[in-house]
Amino acid sequence: MADKSTPLNLLDCDKEKLRAYFVEQGEKPFRGDQVLQWLHQYGCNDVMSMSNISQSLRSRLADTTTIHAPETAFKQVSKDGTCKWLFRLDCGNCIETVFIPEENRGTLCISSQVGCGFNCTFCATGKQGFNRNLTVAEIIGQVFAAVRELKSPENPRPVTNIVLMGMGEPLLNTDNVISALRIMLDDLAYGLSKRRVTVSTTGLIPQMRRLRQEVDVALAVSLHAPNDALRDVLVPINRKYPLAELMQACRDFYPPGSRQVVTFEYVMLQDVNDSLSQAKQLARLLRDVPSKINLIPFNPYPGTTYQCSTRERLADFQQCLMAAGLVATIRKTRGDDIAAACGQLVGDFADKTPRRRLAARIVSAVSEVQAA
Ligand code: SF4
Repeated sequence: MADKSTPLNLLDCDKEKLRAYFVEQGEKPFRGDQVLQWLHQYGCNDVMSMSNISQSLRSRLADTTTIHAPETAFKQVSKDGTCKWLFRLDCGNCIETVFIPEENRGTLCISSQVGCGFNCTFCATGKQGFNRNLTVAEIIGQVFAAVRELKSPENPRPVTNIVLMGMGEPLLNTDNVISALRIMLDDLAYGLSKRRVTVSTTGLIPQMRRLRQEVDVALAVSLHAPNDALRDVLVPINRKYPLAELMQACRDFYPPGSRQVVTFEYVMLQDVNDSLSQAKQLARLLRDVPSKINLIPFNPYPGTTYQCSTRERLADFQQCLMAAGLVATIRKTRGDDIAAACGQLVGDFADKTPRRRLAARIVSAVSEVQAA
């Protein structure tokens, strides 16, 4: 439980933690269910408004707890309706969160770390460096804050899907990410179905196994290359978890007989990973992995030397995969006029990672998580 001198942030708690808190306070565990519902289903940010809780307990909660989500530092709306928030954290650093409205759904893309230490060479976030993991309150707080803002009576825009594809490698923050995922799935909170919540990883195999055991959500893998030689360069963690091992972990991710598939994200970089021979190699790599491939047109950002594949090359690459019997889609670019498109999120924070020690840090961070 929380340090008694600091108020418990109720947003830091999934249902089990809230129940345990109320039991510790001499209350019935169902009080935790009520608070969870007030917070996440009704978007309540004031314990004194939680009307089915006794006045005396509300007063105690007001004295000993807080409801503290990241604050909006800045918000931009793209011409296509995509919203991007810059959320300020208590430490002064800022993270980015994006809402992408579509005809039949609204997808919220949230961050799991302040920055990212993985240094995937095509990614703007990776270029900014790493500061720290987000807490549960900071992860679910992005959902809490965005849902409250999107609920305007004139033009309500529901969040139907959540993807952990913003800043950071979610599986390097596994404990907090799993608690936040439980809140997203909980019927007393956001009640999203397991297919509508997606964790995107570069492929940390031990953490993928833990995720599969602890919470049932969809998996996306940032693949971006059809062979180890190229993936070692584009996604450096590949040196620790090469493709053969990663493909086996993907085959194992869903239970036998499941109809779910792993989504493989593949950013299209001109003359780097977009040739037809690479498409054929990709088809061979994925031929016995239940999968779909999401081809992502590269979104340039200042300072990058990569360019996006041409439209023709994108279409040929997709056709080649489909001819091999794979499902391949081309992601529609959204929010690029406000730098909210995939791979463009940078936030605003102090990098704590000296660039020259980055590679060593990546390997030791992974080892720490494995040892925990
Ligand atoms: S692609 Fe993901 S893991 Fe790689 S640097 Fe960017 S945020 Fe980090």
